[in-house]
Amino acid sequence: MTFNLNNIIRKNVSTLKPYSSARDEYVATGANMVFLDANENPNNNGVNRYPDPHQRSLKSAIADIKGVSQKQILLGNGSDEVLDLLFRAFCEPGKDHVITLPPTYGMYGVLANINAVENRQLPLTPEFQPNLEAIEKAQSSSSKLLFICSPNNPTGNLFNQAKIEWILANFNGLVVIDEAYIDFADIPSWATRLHEFPNLVVIQTLSKAYGMAAVRLGLCFASEAIVNVLKKIKPPYNVNELTQQRALTGILDQQTVQEQIGELVRQRTALANQLKGISFIRKIYPSEANFILIKVDDADLRYRQLMENGIVVRNRSTQTLCENTLRLTVGTTQENKKLVNVLTNIMKDG
Ligand SMILES: *Cc1c(COP(=O)(O)O)cnc(C)c1O
Repeated sequence: MTFNLNNIIRKNVSTLKPYSSARDEYVATGANMVFLDANENPNNNGVNRYPDPHQRSLKSAIADIKGVSQKQILLGNGSDEVLDLLFRAFCEPGKDHVITLPPTYGMYGVLANINAVENRQLPLTPEFQPNLEAIEKAQSSSSKLLFICSPNNPTGNLFNQAKIEWILANFNGLVVIDEAYIDFADIPSWATRLHEFPNLVVIQTLSKAYGMAAVRLGLCFASEAIVNVLKKIKPPYNVNELTQQRALTGILDQQTVQEQIGELVRQRTALANQLKGISFIRKIYPSEANFILIKVDDADLRYRQLMENGIVVRNRSTQTLCENTLRLTVGTTQENKKLVNVLTNIMKDG
């Protein structure tokens, strides 16, 4: 199948003339410039100037670390904004649809609703893998986006590489691979394969492995052509100055990031082993992320008991294929110890 980006862009977006901000028009020369172009307050307090709408310093650092070109990067106010931009660029409300593979991240469906776009839900197989036949049957010329979350939230597993390759080769819209948890997994990012797939969009975030959920930075890696479409419709100053600065400092401190990832992965293994001793836990799903999905005898009961002991987890029981499951985030050593102690006491109390 030959992919043609022009066939999937919304008409109003392809004809749109984007807003040109004051800060778009100059290129910093390093000279002593006087800025009287943007109606800012001239008194320097560190944040009186508009931020760089193109986030050049931040993108340059990200490009080095992720091995992509700066032109293949779009940044947003969390992944949520990047996902929303994809809907607004490619999905005609009331006409087009997206495909999601539940159980998966709830935001795809919420954004579909917000944008008045149909969400075709094609459940994963019992092994939590994409159902290729169902995808083939469900797609049409109005299929614009297909969301793959790998490692998947809430199940924690990676999708089979050959299945993802099949989807990339056979889906006629954009394949959006959400890699929020990729740094906890043992495989390289799909961003390393952008040159092979013109319909590939990879989403990452600073909210998990990088420990900066409050900073709100979402990363999107895609072909320059796709990035240019998204750039046209993004708010000019969507990534604020404080975010740009704090994200840059955090990203450059790779030693801390990598140490914390290593420690969380060790804690994940330790926690999974300790959970084996809890008799009401029926199943511990293997995880490539920083959380563990477990199946218990009675999720509502166990959720409430944990809550009464001061521990908040996520009850995922209403999700497809997730009856009586709880999702446990891997915490600090002490937090995990407390979790296991509380679970052990609940078990002993019957
Ligand atoms: C946590 C998470 C995100 C992160 O969203 P942000 O808006 O960047 O904080 C994205 N996708 C999935 C699947 C997640 O679990």
